Amino acid sequence: MDNCIFCKIAGGEIPSEKVYEDADVYAFHDIHPATPVHFMLIPKLHISSLAEVEDKHRDLVGGMMVLIPRLARQQGCSDGFRTVINTGRVGGQEVYHLHIHILGGRERLPGMIPHPG
Ligand code: AMP
Ligand code: ZN
Repeated sequence: MDNCIFCKIAGGEIPSEKVYEDADVYAFHDIHPATPVHFMLIPKLHISSLAEVEDKHRDLVGGMMVLIPRLARQQGCSDGFRTVINTGRVGGQEVYHLHIHILGGRERLPGMIPHPG
């Protein structure tokens, strides 16, 4: 995609603070970190959101999930982390290139999903 900021980041056209790269994916620190550790993992392939993921992306997306705990540990998330995928208008997605936020730090993160009791 010509005008996609995350395609440009993955391609090195726009600078970023790289966390990890291989042939299929790129990880980089969020420019506005919400927590002490906050980076994003994206596929190099332009997929606009999780709503656009198809069966042909199974290996790519599965590989991303397998990679996350390793990268999180490397970034210092030794006692857990949170993953967030904002999807579409309702999900508050701002950048329309699939990305998984990985959030962590020392303190327990506030709950997002209310638990009864
Ligand atoms: P969202 O689409 O809501 O999941 O969030 C997009 C995220 O991308 C936000 O957390 C932004 O801070 C982050 N972001 C936007 N532009 C850049 C950039 N050039 N480098 C790093 N992170 C960015
Ligand atoms: Zn893109």
